[in-house]
Amino acid sequence: MPETPFETARGLVAAYRAQRTRPSEAVEAALAQVERHEPRVRAFLHLDAERARTEAAAWDRRYAAGEDTPPLAGVPVALKDNLCTRGAPTTCGSRILEGWRPPYDATVVARLRTAGAILLGKTNLDEFAMGSSTENSAFGPTRNPWDLSRVPGGSSGGSAAAVAAGFVPLALGSDTGGSIRLPAGFCGVVGLKPTYGRVSRYGLVAFASSLDQIGPLARDVEDCALLLDAIAGPDPLDTTSARVPPPQARAALGAAPRGLRVGVVTDAFGAGVAPGVAAAIREALRTLEGLGLAIEEVALPTLEAALPAYYLLAPAEASANLARYDGMRYGLRAAGADLVDTYRQTRRRGFGPEVKRRIMLGTYALSAGYYDAYYLRAQKVRTLVARDFERAFARADVVVMPVAPTPAFAIGERAADPLQMYLADVFTIPVNLAGLPGLALPCGFDGGLPVGLQLIGRPFDEATLLRVGHAYQQATDWHRRRPPVA
Ligand code: GLN
Repeated sequence: MPETPFETARGLVAAYRAQRTRPSEAVEAALAQVERHEPRVRAFLHLDAERARTEAAAWDRRYAAGEDTPPLAGVPVALKDNLCTRGAPTTCGSRILEGWRPPYDATVVARLRTAGAILLGKTNLDEFAMGSSTENSAFGPTRNPWDLSRVPGGSSGGSAAAVAAGFVPLALGSDTGGSIRLPAGFCGVVGLKPTYGRVSRYGLVAFASSLDQIGPLARDVEDCALLLDAIAGPDPLDTTSARVPPPQARAALGAAPRGLRVGVVTDAFGAGVAPGVAAAIREALRTLEGLGLAIEEVALPTLEAALPAYYLLAPAEASANLARYDGMRYGLRAAGADLVDTYRQTRRRGFGPEVKRRIMLGTYALSAGYYDAYYLRAQKVRTLVARDFERAFARADVVVMPVAPTPAFAIGERAADPLQMYLADVFTIPVNLAGLPGLALPCGFDGGLPVGLQLIGRPFDEATLLRVGHAYQQATDWHRRRPPVA
């Protein structure tokens, strides 16, 4: 296996501070890794090598002078391409935004710059984050570094593949129904969907605003906590950002989780879960038990209703959010005979099939005659899902499910069947509906492909999830396995 340019972000910062290496060397190593493997993996939509080199040289000088440096100074980070970056392309994987350069940075991007991160590039995604495989990108699919014939998961597939392939130690994704956790699980890396409101959504291109959250992807839980600390906390620019103090997640990792109660969702081991996935999760539970955690059984009776409810609510919100792409304000304009025809041509040419399907489903669900039957009922299901979790958290501090029923599927296998594609999200979607934090981390393999363990927490209790995940990683080495491409 070829040598990886770096292990963790914190290891890199420690090495800079001890003057064992320099940010320029790390950036060159990252770019060399990209050059070797990117032609096959295709994690990036846009790379900014020149800017990365310039910024790295500036950090080189500050480390050499022994200056105080911020926590991520000189660490290469990749960003999902639905996060606005001032002056740099932001496509959302869509033709309709091709050529658009936002005039501002998303809050998370601004915070990463303040923390000293070097933003290496923008990563591939399903168009407008709609999908579970990254095959819905208008710019072609990303491939899973563990097996190039498989999908990396989606929609943040580019970010997960970039971390798994050793292009960067850290990346940001967004998660509306599983889009951080699913690709983390499929690519054998760590991904966290924070509590709704924990991280500012300002500058995240909206998909379904009541569900969308930005979160970190990393190689291990400690790096994931480091990145969460850099981006989390209240933001006056986002009215849904919660006024709660930042999590100080990394500092919380020290406390051993002994005595905490783990609730296993028994409903999540039914038909449809691959035997190899179930076996890996059971083994992880034995490990947690060995660490002194108590295992309880909990029920989520609405688990199966969550998926259909989500596929009404998310498209409903998307149909409203995507109305702004009219050929006037952003990117693509396909001129038509008159104004309405220009809207029509722009949207016809600019959006791909999945986005069009969602706009139609969402518009239908919100239409006057069907609102009560679909949208309103789905909202009621959403409330029931949240109550199920509340009951579970009366018995448990952390709830466990698989990330997905199966490991990564083959490219093309589900592309023609949207319902099959949607099923990949059955265990991640309930967490978004309830607004809870969810952590995905590697817990084994099935047929040579990574299996993801999902830990779900109480609102704003990312710290407990990360503590349990960190203790698990101290006791296991799944997170140290590297794919053939890395
Ligand atoms: N796969 C889900 C969807 O297609 C979730 C996507 C996401 O979390 N952005 O809507």
